[in-house]
Order: sequence, then C-alpha cells, then structure tokens
Amino acid sequence: MKPVDGQLAFDFDEFAREDARRDLPSREGAPLHFTTDYYAPGELDEAFELWCFLNGNFGSIPRSHMWHRPSWATGETEYGDHSIVTFTADLSPPRGAAGPGDVVYRASCESCEWHAVDDSENGVVEAWHDHAVPGWRELPVIPAQVRVRDEKGLTKLAKAWISEHYPQHMQVAGAPIITERTPHATRHVAGYSPWRGYDLSWTALDHPSSTSDRPVSAARRDLASAMGAESRQAPQLGAVDGPRR
Ligand SMILES: [Zn+2]
Repeated sequence: MKPVDGQLAFDFDEFAREDARRDLPSREGAPLHFTTDYYAPGELDEAFELWCFLNGNFGSIPRSHMWHRPSWATGETEYGDHSIVTFTADLSPPRGAAGPGDVVYRASCESCEWHAVDDSENGVVEAWHDHAVPGWRELPVIPAQVRVRDEKGLTKLAKAWISEHYPQHMQVAGAPIITERTPHATRHVAGYSPWRGYDLSWTALDHPSSTSDRPVSAARRDLASAMGAESRQAPQLGAVDGPRR
C-alpha cells in the first residue's frame, strides 16, 4: 500500500507500530533497554532501531539509554580472527530526576562473543587489545620527537621509525602503534596505525591489563546499582564478559 497523503502515511506507520508492539513478547535479540549482557553488534543495532521506530527518534539516545554506534565511529578494526566495534550509551536520568549521569562505552568482538563495558572509551579499547592482540603492551612507544602524522597522514619519518623499531610480526593488518602524547590528547584513535589498527596513547600502559576478574571500581559499582534499581537489571560495569550461553 502506497500512502497517498500525510494522514494515511501516519496511519500506516501506526499500524506497523501496533504490529511491532504486539510482536514484542515473542521477539528475540537485544532488549529494548540498557543491558550489559553480550549481544552481537547487529542485534544491538536492530534493538535501537526498533526502539526509535516505536518511540520516535527525538531524544532517543538519553531516553532509551540504549547502545548505539557513536557518531564518530569509523567502522570495524580487524586483527587476525578478532574484530572491534564500539558502542556508547547515555545513562543520564530524565530531566528533573535523580540518578547517575554518565556515558558508558562497549567494545565487542563478534567472532568470540566477547565484550567489555567501561565508563571510558579508552578503557574498552585497551580491554579489546588485551583480548585480541597479545603482546601489544610490549610495543615500543613512538617518542614525541617523531612527528607521527601531518595533513597527508602518517609521515615518512614515522613510517621509517616504526618499520625499524616494531617487531616484524606486529607489522600486520589491524595491529596498533603506541605514541607519546601531550596530557590533553590521550584518546586512542582507530585506523591511525600504518596497518589501519589503533594509534594508542602511551597512557594506556599506565592502566593494568584487564582480565575476567578485573576489579570494579567503587564509582562504577555505585553507578551499576543505581541503574539496577531503576531498570531491574543489574549491570556490572567494568566487567569483561565471556560468551553468552
Ligand atoms: Zn575476539
């Protein structure tokens, strides 16, 4: 049926929404609210799209608290059998209500059904490197004197420095580099290594390696219990979860 005017188009969408609402109880996939459980990136995309279809796009990110791809996302980085996709969720409370106000991040490796959740984007990127790129913490830090990029991309000097100092087996697709940074430029940037891996800030090395029993900081525990009280879920921020069974 092709809508012939605005009114009919509206009704048509409303029918589709009614159908979708009726199908919700039997629906599988990621839930239509915040979750720290593992779901494949495609399932998270589908759930957020459905929420927006049912509830409208306006303010969908803070209203739904759901995982979505950040606007700056550059797609997927692959290293061997592993891949990383990052999502973000906004846990701010509704206006006028009390509650945790924070943005949280998730990195997934779909082939392993692995994911990490953290209150920092760098944190999940580091956790993924611990998961997928053994030995990355031993890579040489490119010193600040070596200018890594200019407007044309990686500099000749940086390429030469890297090819001389980086182990041969780490000069492969998706492998990261580590660069010395100034205090206010410590974001890890996807796709900026010579092999389209991450350019990691050297501050990554100050943080301990993440493991399955990585301690959850008090602040994250507070945030998690506050969210749990609100959504009847009990998210464990900071946890690195294995496959869903
Ligand atoms: Zn993996």
